Amino acid sequence: MKIHEYQAKQLLARFGVAVSEGVLVTDAKEAGPAWDQLGTPLAVVKAQIHAGGRGKGGGVKLARSREETIAEATRMLGMNLVTHQTGPEGKIVQRVWIEKGSDIARELYLAMTVDRVSGKPVMMASREGGVEIEEVAAKTPEKIFKETIEPCLGMQPYQARNLAFKLGLEGTQVKEATKIILGLARCFLECDCSIAEINPLIVTTEGNVKALDAKINFDDNALYRHKDLEELRDLTEEDAKEIEASKYDLNYIALDGNIGCMVNGAGLAMATMDVIKAHGGEPANFLDVGGSVTKEGVVGAFKILLSDKNVEAIMINIFGGIAKCDVIAQGVVDAAKEVDLTVPLVVRLEGTNVKKGRQILEESDIALISATSLDEAAKKAVEAAGAAR
Ligand code: GDP
Ligand code: MG
Repeated sequence: MKIHEYQAKQLLARFGVAVSEGVLVTDAKEAGPAWDQLGTPLAVVKAQIHAGGRGKGGGVKLARSREETIAEATRMLGMNLVTHQTGPEGKIVQRVWIEKGSDIARELYLAMTVDRVSGKPVMMASREGGVEIEEVAAKTPEKIFKETIEPCLGMQPYQARNLAFKLGLEGTQVKEATKIILGLARCFLECDCSIAEINPLIVTTEGNVKALDAKINFDDNALYRHKDLEELRDLTEEDAKEIEASKYDLNYIALDGNIGCMVNGAGLAMATMDVIKAHGGEPANFLDVGGSVTKEGVVGAFKILLSDKNVEAIMINIFGGIAKCDVIAQGVVDAAKEVDLTVPLVVRLEGTNVKKGRQILEESDIALISATSLDEAAKKAVEAAGAAR
């Protein structure tokens, strides 16, 4: 689950991370009073969307007067903000965070995530803040400093000081940065984050260290332990198809290809996407209907696939183990009755109750293309999608 920058900052502040004071506005009328409340000669108006790179897209602006603040908030609210992380379709800005502006001397980078190699949380820091860290990691990985955390011990103060020194900080800045680094680590561990990033972490011209931006994602599998965090969810920022899928307990992730996939098992779903790609196609989604899938779940999944305007062919790949081929087949037949099946449908069924499943499909009047192997199914789906175009 993702949250907005202002929510991440409010959360981090609870862990002792220094952030700027700010006000959330959802209506341009509130921008003037926000400026008055902050009582600052410099404000920053920041579009709140679940994506980074807002600065370059015009979603972060400095304002030096009440009028400028109102003008920027008015411009941003309702705008379609396109950044390299939103994709070309962009995101509509519904909330704007107005905060006290900072005078920046240095922009640094700080983030915690899970290192898949060591299987432990890792805190990363770099002097190259503000810019895209992926580029730093790719071109000059030696500029990223790391401290691996023992999960049962948490981050140790000496580790935080190590990073602070490597960032080239001195005197009281080391103390301030250490507090921020330890606070970020505690937040990450206690809130079950999958990533907690401060980019940039700044040193102000007065010599203070603080978080200027914040991005936090939570591990969905641990959300049940954090009812208070669940309330931070902003459904308007999430893909409507993914929200719908979560109602049926389907593991669905929207992608941007044109072949809709319905598969049972995450591993098989990944393999299906790989084989589609190997045949020159592009999957429109990842979808694992799971082992205990019901007929309703299949109908729901089918509707979600068809609601995706990019989908030009659907590929169903079921290897019946716990999931039964006849249940899936019945779901497909029922769904086809409810929705208008406008794209070619390729079906590969194998495993538990496969005969019954195939019979159900054959006896229905759905026009489907059947396949016996994964490879054949993927090839046919790619061809069908191509022909549809
Ligand atoms: P992002 O583009 O979505 O990552 O948004 P950020 O919050 O990181 O802001 C982008 C950039 O705007 C930062 O890297 C800063 O250079 C600039 N910026 C943000 N807040 C301030 C501020 O208070 N003062 C100044 N001078 N620049 C700021
Ligand atoms: Mg940033």
